[in-house]
Amino acid sequence: MERIAIYPGSFDPITMGHLDILDRALRIFDKVIIAVGEHIKKDTLFSTKERLQQIKEAVKERKNVEVAHFEGLMIDYAKKRNANAIVRGLRAVSDFEYEFQMALMNRKLDSSIETVFIMTRGMYSYLNSSVVKEVAKHNGNVTTLVPPVVAEALKEKFRN
Ligand code: ADP
Repeated sequence: MERIAIYPGSFDPITMGHLDILDRALRIFDKVIIAVGEHIKKDTLFSTKERLQQIKEAVKERKNVEVAHFEGLMIDYAKKRNANAIVRGLRAVSDFEYEFQMALMNRKLDSSIETVFIMTRGMYSYLNSSVVKEVAKHNGNVTTLVPPVVAEALKEKFRN
């Protein structure tokens, strides 16, 4: 049986930290579906369309990756795509409480899909999309933090 993982997130924008988790997940699973979700509470810098484009460009050299978009409950989307697992990245203890809560809720909703946590590389443990946006907004250099397509998009976004 093909082992399929869903890697859900906002990816606003996708960073090297996200790509690191993706590459680790690809060593475990036959296929990884990066699933861009809509957060009702989150205002995003990039539209869903922009984020999908950026991610597709960033992962185009990798095999066994699909980039998709979902609405509604992530666990329903995972089920629909016949996923066996949900992949989430862990950076620091501060991620734990929220991730633990989500994993347990998702298990309650569907106990057949396991949440798998993958630890980030130390060098990316400080990295998140918000920090990247903050640095880019003030003209800081983000080229080592995000794929080239995102660095370009950020420059464009904050030009004015
Ligand atoms: P969400 O809004 O669902 O948290 P994010 O795009 O912020 O979406 O994150 C998606 C997933 O990627 C989460 O599991 C998060 O912990 C993980 N992640 C984000 N940045 C990093 C990083 N630098 N290293 C490892 N995992 C990360």
